Amino acid sequence: MRRASPLTQMTLALVALAGTLILLADLFLGVLPDRAAQQRMLRKSIGENLAVQVAEQLRTSDAATIGRSLAAIAERTPDLRSIGLRRSRDQVLLAQAGEHARLWEPMTGAASRDNQILVPLTSSAGPWGSLELGFAPDESNPVLRQLLQPMTLLLIFFSSVGTLVFWLYMRRALQHLDPASVIPERVQGAFDTMAEGVVVLDVRGRVLLANRSFRLLHQDAADLRSGGALSTLPWLAASLPADLAQHAWSRALAEKAPNAGSTLEIMDSDGQLRQLVVNAAPVTDSGRRVRGCLVTFSDVTELHRANAALRDALSALSASNAEIERKNRELHDLATRDPLTGCLNRRALDAAIAGLREGAGTAAVQLGCIMVDIDHFKRVNDQHGHAVGDRVIQEVAKKLHQAARATDLVCRFGGEEFCVVVPGVGAAEMMAFAERVRERIERECGPAVREVQGLRVTASIGVEVGSIGSTGIAPLIGRADEALYAAKRSGRNRVCLFTERAPASPVAGAEHA
Ligand code: GH3
Ligand code: MG
Ligand code: MG
Repeated sequence: MRRASPLTQMTLALVALAGTLILLADLFLGVLPDRAAQQRMLRKSIGENLAVQVAEQLRTSDAATIGRSLAAIAERTPDLRSIGLRRSRDQVLLAQAGEHARLWEPMTGAASRDNQILVPLTSSAGPWGSLELGFAPDESNPVLRQLLQPMTLLLIFFSSVGTLVFWLYMRRALQHLDPASVIPERVQGAFDTMAEGVVVLDVRGRVLLANRSFRLLHQDAADLRSGGALSTLPWLAASLPADLAQHAWSRALAEKAPNAGSTLEIMDSDGQLRQLVVNAAPVTDSGRRVRGCLVTFSDVTELHRANAALRDALSALSASNAEIERKNRELHDLATRDPLTGCLNRRALDAAIAGLREGAGTAAVQLGCIMVDIDHFKRVNDQHGHAVGDRVIQEVAKKLHQAARATDLVCRFGGEEFCVVVPGVGAAEMMAFAERVRERIERECGPAVREVQGLRVTASIGVEVGSIGSTGIAPLIGRADEALYAAKRSGRNRVCLFTERAPASPVAGAEHA
């Protein structure tokens, strides 16, 4: 069963206390009138007054006159049904009003009852008779009669109107009480030692307690008065969602479950943004009913700042890593590539060949090799200058690169000599490759050097195909070089395949001096 609220309990206790006081006052002081006793007194006094009149009339009037006057009195007195004048000597009814003889019930002794009043009449000789007054019995509902008793009415009035008035008064009085004043100092002290801002709310989200750390969050929080709704604190409300139901504590109270980890960004008194993490947990009693809410505010501004600094440092680090990688690539290129043409240098060619041999294990490595030498290159230098000579070397290297596949090795062997190594090819394939190269150099290199109009560039090429062993590539290159000289000797601008009886047979081209 749902327990009454403290307000209702206090109201009922007050009403019960007041009711008990009234009962005690009536018991000891008799402050409340007893209707039945009052009525009895009134009837007795009517009887006695009437008796005085009748005694007077007995001296002067006859029975009939007395009877008439009794009838007139009975008619005028409410509830008085009958009156009788009885002589005690012979119990004769000398005069009566109403149907007294029929209605009057004989009474033993002289004691009156509620409805029958007996007033003794005396003469100088002693008791003479009695005046009997018969009142109509009270025929009203006994329950109603009891209800209409002053005490009952007072208690009913008190328990209804009194409860309402006490309840209204207590509610108003409690609202004006500072709820925080009931919080023991040691509890407040314990909360104040916490680094996190802590606020205890009642079920309506009003602040019951706020610790020191919470008051330090903002200048305006320093003189925070309890009793106000947390959601309406101006410095906090500015950062909260417009919908009150969405506030962490409202949700915790409504859902009866903790609401953790929501973030808040407030502007502190110095205009600095502060990041807060808000956790709200409902406070329940032993009956699992929600009695309030505990809200904590963790200032994570420094953590955010440190994180941002860490992020900056990380991005600077990755930028410098990229720079180092770029420099490393540059260094590697400088160490392995010829700066003028981008071709591998001889050391890099040797390393690449060693890599190929390692990859093949014990199997023989089949390679094709061409040696390329620009024809009459000295003349280019002599006639057009060294810079044009460099341009010619670059254009020839470009043609070699264009003809080669990614796995082929293009090397500047020295001066205006190049070597291209093609893995896994036969002699015919390699001859075709060499011829393609020669033909492209002849056709494209001269026109590509714009600095000199009508420049003619040709090259001679020696070809050798074979497998390499522990001696490395040097013998293969040596034989290709022999074939190259055969090409030179046989007229330049041609391709020669190495044969044991060099000079080898030229396959293409014709030198134009
Ligand atoms: P051949 O047809 O017999 O090969 O005649 P050639 O004139 O080409 O003779 P050779 O191969 O002996 O001449 C090579 C010349 O290339 C010698 C050198 O001055 C020149 N040379 C070497 N390296 C460079 C370079 O990097 N730039 C320029 N411009 N000239 C170079
Ligand atoms: Mg040469
Ligand atoms: Mg040459």
